[in-house]
Amino acid sequence: MESKSKKSIIIIGGGPAAMMLACTLDNEKFDVTIVEKGKSIGRKFLVAGKGGFNLTHSENISEMAQKYEGPKSLFDALNTFTNEDLRQWLSDIGIETYIGSSKRVFPIKGIKPIEVLQAIILEMKRKDVKILTETLWSGSFIKNDTIELSQKGIVTKLKAHKVAFAMGGGSWKVTGSDGNWVKYFRLAGVECKPFRPSNCVMKIDWSESINAHFGKPLKNISLRYKDKTIKGELMITKEGIEGSPAYALSYYVGESIGSEKQEIFVDLKPTTSIDKIIKILSSKKKITSILKTDLSLSVGAIALIKSKTSREDFADPKTLAAIIKNLPLQIKGLGELDEAISTVGGVSANAIGDTMELINFSNHFVIGEMLDWNAPTGGYLLQGCFSMGRRLGTLLNKD
Ligand SMILES: Cc1cc2nc3c(=O)[nH]c(=O)nc-3n(C[C@H](O)[C@H](O)[C@H](O)COP(=O)(O)OP(=O)(O)OC[C@H]3O[C@@H](n4cnc5c(N)ncnc54)[C@H](O)[C@@H]3O)c2cc1C
Repeated sequence: MESKSKKSIIIIGGGPAAMMLACTLDNEKFDVTIVEKGKSIGRKFLVAGKGGFNLTHSENISEMAQKYEGPKSLFDALNTFTNEDLRQWLSDIGIETYIGSSKRVFPIKGIKPIEVLQAIILEMKRKDVKILTETLWSGSFIKNDTIELSQKGIVTKLKAHKVAFAMGGGSWKVTGSDGNWVKYFRLAGVECKPFRPSNCVMKIDWSESINAHFGKPLKNISLRYKDKTIKGELMITKEGIEGSPAYALSYYVGESIGSEKQEIFVDLKPTTSIDKIIKILSSKKKITSILKTDLSLSVGAIALIKSKTSREDFADPKTLAAIIKNLPLQIKGLGELDEAISTVGGVSANAIGDTMELINFSNHFVIGEMLDWNAPTGGYLLQGCFSMGRRLGTLLNKD
C-alpha cells in the first residue's frame, strides 16, 4: 500500500544505475517504483556478464577517475561511491568479488551474473521497492504529482513527486536500451547529443595477406592515437581490430572521425627500445626468423609488418625497427552503434545541474548511460552507473 506521508519516486528503466538508486533510497521516506518496459530488469547487466563480468576496476579511485570523460556530477559520484565502496556493498548483499590479473574486479568463481542480479533484486525487495515490468515511458513528465505511463498499451497514471530517468544508452537494443527516449527529451527542450559508438571495433580495410590472420591476437602491444597510448591485447578480425586498447581509444577516434580517415599506431614491442630492436635485427640471421625467435613476434604481427613494408624496408634494420615500434593502421570507421559495448551522447552536460537534476524540469533527474559520458570497458562503465545511482539516492535522502 502506498503511504500518504511518503513521497513517491518513480525510476524509469531497470538497469544498474536504477537498481543502485532504488537500493539507496530511504524507504522510511519514499515509496520507490522501478518502471521497466521489458519483461524483466537488468538485461544489459546480464549481457555484460556473458563475457568477463567486470563489476569495477581495482585502480586507486583518483587514477580510475582519469579514465572518464563527463559532467562534474559523474566525478562527484565516483568520489563519493568509489570502487572500494562498491565492492563492500556487493559483499554486504552476499556477492564477494576478487581482483583478476588485469586488475579488473569480478564476482568470485562460482557466482553467476544472474546470481548477482538476484542478490540486487533481493536487496530491492528488502527495501520494499516495487518493480513494474512491461511498462513504457513515452514522454510524460510530472504533472499534478502524477506521471503517465503505458502498461501493455493501456495508459496508467502513477503518483510521482520525483522521477529519475535511467533508460540507458543507445546500443544493444535487444536488451531494451534503444535510445528512443531521446526524441521525447528533445521535444521537451532537453539538449541531447547524438549517440555515437564507444568501446567498439575500429574498422580497417586489410590487405589480402592479413585474411589468414583473422581471429589471431596481438599480445603485449600498445596502441597509440594522438597523445593517448593504451597497453594490452588486440584481436585482428575481418572488420578491423578489437580488444581493450582499441575499445578504449575508439571514443577519441570517434571524436575526429568524419570524411577523413584516422591513423593509429601499434607498438609491437612496447618494452623494447628501438635501438635494441635495431641491434637485434642487425644480426646475420634471416629476418623472418629474427622476428619470430629473437623478437618473439607472432605470425599475425609478422604478417602486419610485411603488409606495411617494401622488400627494401624489410631488409633495412632501422626502417624495420621503426615500423615494429610504430606500425600505422588506417581507421576507416567505427563499428555499428548497436554492436558497441557503450554509447556516448545522450543528455548533454548542459542540461543537468550538479545533482543530476534536469535544468528544465525540477524533480526530474538523469543517471547512468543516458547521460553524455565515456569510460573504457573493464568495470568502469558499471562503476559509473552504480556511483551515479548511489549519489542521487544519497542526495535525495538528505532532501
Ligand atoms: C556486450 C556488453 C558487455 C558489457 N560488459 C561490461 C563490463 O564487463 N563491465 C562494465 O562496467 N560494463 C559493461 N557493459 C556496459 C554496461 O552494461 C552498461 O554501461 C550499463 O548496463 C548501463 O546501465 P544503465 O543503468 O545506464 O542502463 P541499461 O543497463 O542500459 O538499462 C536501461 C533500462 O531502461 C529500460 N528502458 C529504456 N527505455 C525505456 C522506456 N521508454 N520505458 C521504460 N524502460 C525503458 C531498458 O529496457 C533497460 O532495461 C557492457 C555492455 C555490453 C553491451
